[in-house]
Amino acid sequence: MRLVSTRDPQRHANFRQAVLAGIAPGGGLWMPDPLPVFPDWPELLDLAWSERCAVVLDRLLADELGREPVAQAVREALDFPVPLVPVRPGVFALELFHGPTLAFKDFGARFFAAVLDDVREPREPGRPVTILTATSGDTGAAVARAFWRRPGVRAVVLYPQGRVSALQELQFATLGENVTALAVDGAFDDCQTLVKTAFADAGLTARHGLTSANSINVARLLPQTLYYAEAVAALRRLGISEPPVIAVPSGNFGNLCAGLLARAMGLPVKAFIAATNANTTVPDYLETGDYRPRPSVATLSNAMDVGAPNNWERIENLFKGDLEALRRVLRWGSQSDAETERSIRELSTHGYLADPHAAVAWGVLRARLQPGETGVFLGTAHPAKFLPVYERLGIEVAIPPALSDLLGRPFLGREIPNEVGALREVLDKQREIESS
Ligand SMILES: *Cc1c(COP(=O)(O)O)cnc(C)c1O
Repeated sequence: MRLVSTRDPQRHANFRQAVLAGIAPGGGLWMPDPLPVFPDWPELLDLAWSERCAVVLDRLLADELGREPVAQAVREALDFPVPLVPVRPGVFALELFHGPTLAFKDFGARFFAAVLDDVREPREPGRPVTILTATSGDTGAAVARAFWRRPGVRAVVLYPQGRVSALQELQFATLGENVTALAVDGAFDDCQTLVKTAFADAGLTARHGLTSANSINVARLLPQTLYYAEAVAALRRLGISEPPVIAVPSGNFGNLCAGLLARAMGLPVKAFIAATNANTTVPDYLETGDYRPRPSVATLSNAMDVGAPNNWERIENLFKGDLEALRRVLRWGSQSDAETERSIRELSTHGYLADPHAAVAWGVLRARLQPGETGVFLGTAHPAKFLPVYERLGIEVAIPPALSDLLGRPFLGREIPNEVGALREVLDKQREIESS
């Protein structure tokens, strides 16, 4: 697979290079170039989930990684169900939270972990690899879990102290061993900036073999295209062959970008809906044509509290900056916390329990879906990750064992100030301990 930088059409990489570099020189993001268009979607959509994943990723990656490694990565990483659940007449939830950490980040994080060994150069003994990731909640859990106990790799998770849910925090801060959880005195955007600053430090990057697992990494983006195909396939199994409108609860816009890529590859999707909480940088841009990143504000759907979405640049690139073309494919809207709570309540009276992120997508979908269209909203996390929201609403949520097992485990997270010096110190100390 050939990729090109969003900021320099002369700058190319193969998949290996793009995964290892994370970001392109000069700060660009890697985009497939050319993007393959599959002529045989009807046949692909007839395949079962795991078969389809294997075929699609084989076409994209096997020439570089080999067929068996790709097949193995699919077996290892994409091994959990993706149910399409009817919610209202003509409206379905695609539930992406049946992986080990109960959020859709498992797709990208597990696939990234599964292919990292395949893309790495044969490792020199003692040369460290450190996965450094900033999280607004779910990424940290998925990445930490995907790398936990993998030999020769350390995973370091930076998260905004007090701004992730208690259970989310336990998911990465109780693992220990090769996982380090750092609570940063700041917001998610600060964590993201710390990661960028660390990568800009060539000495630090080399010393620790820093590798990014954030949603900018193309190894996380690619597997996310696959569940959009599953949504369309599941609708067809129900006899619905009209292309659906799919609402994506968005923060960094990696998920939506993957959907737009799938559509650009020929997947029959009528339109997407960019749904946000009060962090309305993208809806405002689509409305006014004025792109203004801003500091994030805290909301109930905390995994979407992003004011400067780092994948938006890819979407701009995919549409060559043509706002009108983008508006033909993309609808948009946002929900306040009060509207999100109302949506949760309303869905629960219809017998569906939505997490706050899915509830945002549902709320915007309901406002933007035209009569006669089939709507799908993405359920990006299990509701039990956000218990206080439901307690306040008086809605009972059963806690699945994947979460209840964490309660009572020792907390191993550490606080650090919002300074790259503090991060550098933690990494260097750790390395000292490991190599002594
Ligand atoms: C990360 C996340 C989102 C936002 O996804 P992006 O790809 O960053 O737009 C939405 N919902 C949940 C539960 C998440 O964890």
